[in-house]
Amino acid sequence: MKNGYFGQWGGAFIPEVLHQTFAELHKAYAAARADEKFWQEYVDLMSNYSCRPTPLTFAENLSDHLGGARIYIKREDLNHTGAHKANNVMGQGLLVKRMGKKRVIAETGAGQHGVATATMAARFGFDCTIYMGEVDVARQRPNVFWMEKLGATVVPVKDGSRTLKDAINEAFRDWVTNMDSTHYVFGTACGPAPFPEMVSWFQSIIGIEAEKQIKEQHGGLPDRVYACVGGGSNAMGIFQGFLDHNEVELVGVEAGGKGIDTEEHASRMVGDRATPGVAQGYKTMFLQDTDGQMLDTHSIAAGLDYVGVSPILADLGEKGRVRFEAATDTEVLEALKLTMRREGIIPALESSHAFVQAIKEAPTMSRDQAIIINMSGRGDKDIFTIAHAFDDPSWKEFIIGRAAEYAAK
Ligand SMILES: *Cc1c(COP(=O)(O)O)cnc(C)c1O
Repeated sequence: MKNGYFGQWGGAFIPEVLHQTFAELHKAYAAARADEKFWQEYVDLMSNYSCRPTPLTFAENLSDHLGGARIYIKREDLNHTGAHKANNVMGQGLLVKRMGKKRVIAETGAGQHGVATATMAARFGFDCTIYMGEVDVARQRPNVFWMEKLGATVVPVKDGSRTLKDAINEAFRDWVTNMDSTHYVFGTACGPAPFPEMVSWFQSIIGIEAEKQIKEQHGGLPDRVYACVGGGSNAMGIFQGFLDHNEVELVGVEAGGKGIDTEEHASRMVGDRATPGVAQGYKTMFLQDTDGQMLDTHSIAAGLDYVGVSPILADLGEKGRVRFEAATDTEVLEALKLTMRREGIIPALESSHAFVQAIKEAPTMSRDQAIIINMSGRGDKDIFTIAHAFDDPSWKEFIIGRAAEYAAK
């Protein structure tokens, strides 16, 4: 990394007025990284508040069923708030405390990062404002409900397509106005430097634990590691435990939506829909048209439909260190069903993308080989989408019944 660049990707394309704020952030981050006590404080907080270290579960039934490699699952679903996002927000929370700021803002699409940030703000006693596209506010009501109950102010953004990218723009506007009091808690390993590196650093706790755990349980390194890729933070988190071991193959799985040959997916590294560009403060592969307007994306997993990808992953992909694949919505539902029935584990729709690719490849490997799937989060949050996709008649009856009860009141 040089000046926030990873190969040709990354950088910091920020408005003049934010230079001072970014300089302050760079300084606070560098000081925290140089201070072993900071990392220890972070590890202590996460073990006390978020069930770390999360287990590495040997999926014995799934391994037997597929008849190939031994499958291990890194259980980020057991974090507080149900996903790896807790790692990033709690880490940034500690940094905010060190910087002496009292207010945090964040963008959110599906609402998971918003809930995690609101949780962190409640715990640390910060004021909290969450920017969310108006369309997302309407379709992610349960998460909006929790953000508000946790004490955050949720601001619906009415610009553009009224989704995540518009929320990011609005959050930057807020930051420009309130930079003395406010820290912007970016949600993934994207955005202007130092966010890609800083978010990856907090998430590296996943890989540090997983490397130690697989050695203890399997007696050596895994052959392959799978992670789903939205912005890329959970993938960067687990990959960092194995990046220096070139014999470990790293596989990132993107949202193939209705198929990589259609217009309805969100794959940036697989297929030819994405092109290099600069937006939202950094350079990466974006799903954009020839005028640089962001394209509409689709995935059954709300957390994987972002238009950009971590510049660190764009670089690792270009160098061939990370292999990228895409999983379709249909494949995702099949993998989810199989994992639930064989292991009693319900992966989030996002995480199920990583399961798809692992389930495809495990049978082609031998019994003494091992793979790790990073299970970024739990699927409980997806009950509306999953029940709808499975076309469950009793669920439909339940929803209609509840709606009728409300209407009658
Ligand atoms: C947000 C989210 C993702 C996608 O984000 P990354 O930064 O790519 O990790 C994946 N899984 C779950 C469960 C999420 O909530």
